[in-house]
Amino acid sequence: MSLGEFELIERYFRRPAEARRAARGDVPLGIGDDSAVLALPPGRHLVAALDTLVEGRHFVPGSPPESIGHRALAVNLSDLAAMGAEPAWFLLSLTLPSSDEIFLERFARGLFALAERHGVALVGGDTTAGPLAVAVQALGSIEPGQALTRAGGRAGDLVYVSGTPGDAAGGLKLVLDAAAGDELDEAHRQWLWDRFHFPTPRVELGRALRGIASACVDVSDGLAGDAARMARFSGCGLRLDAGRVPVSPALVALAGAEGARRIALTGGEDCELCFTVPPSRAAALEALLDNVKCPVTCIGELTDGAGIELTGKGAPLDIDAGGFDHFA
Ligand code: ADP
Ligand code: MG
Repeated sequence: MSLGEFELIERYFRRPAEARRAARGDVPLGIGDDSAVLALPPGRHLVAALDTLVEGRHFVPGSPPESIGHRALAVNLSDLAAMGAEPAWFLLSLTLPSSDEIFLERFARGLFALAERHGVALVGGDTTAGPLAVAVQALGSIEPGQALTRAGGRAGDLVYVSGTPGDAAGGLKLVLDAAAGDELDEAHRQWLWDRFHFPTPRVELGRALRGIASACVDVSDGLAGDAARMARFSGCGLRLDAGRVPVSPALVALAGAEGARRIALTGGEDCELCFTVPPSRAAALEALLDNVKCPVTCIGELTDGAGIELTGKGAPLDIDAGGFDHFA
């Protein structure tokens, strides 16, 4: 590497991190020592998540570096959001083929833009040479007993999803196949491109769902598979109404009504939340949605037993309830 490891950390990761530390006030010791020291608010539990993005596997070679930085943090914030946790800090493991300063500058810009939006501080990490890969560990906190797990759902609970799932998969389709969106108008193309490259972790929604949702899961491997997984963890079956799954106009423009629904149910890479709410709390959910600027849609319910049922008009859908498996 031309730029030394030390200079690289100083130039691209330490200064912004120090600005965040000043902003947060709960990082007695951040980047620079052997470990970070973090001040967990008294009485709260630590919530930790880690996700790795590998070039060629989780992002396409040649992806905008801002997007790689954004997504590396976004998928982790999404995991904390799915627990209802308050994100606070993150660590960054960066494996770089070379110390390409243009890449680093743009990567850091995407990463810190999202970090600032959520007030989370980079407090440490590791930097090595090798094939491009980015791992982020996100840390946050929650009141004991308040975490939204996958296992809390009961038969009869309503199943909801945030946003318009499938848009990220639609955007990936455009990235992989330039001809795929030939007929799309520019606004639709931009929407899908953006949803793939810069997905929105639903942090505020996740926090607001504490005390209202009975179970929650981050939709990253496909809505149907992740919803089925949540149902299974909850010891329930699942009935999904394909006709109620929300799809964006852009995804419909790309794939048609039926195709959009199929992509929404099976496509990966979204940062949406799928959660269950007991019918008795449905009104409380409606009330909180006035404050959280994130659309949610009821798409089905948990059922007795273990069956996964997909109702609604259209051709039968072949849903892999197991979700995406890298080793399958
Ligand atoms: P050590 O050899 O003790 O692990 P390093 O040289 O790897 O130390 O790291 C020095 C300091 O820089 C540590 O505080 C570490 O957390 C931080 N650091 C290293 N790489 C990164 C990175 N990519 N982003 C943020 N902090 C980093
Ligand atoms: Mg190290």
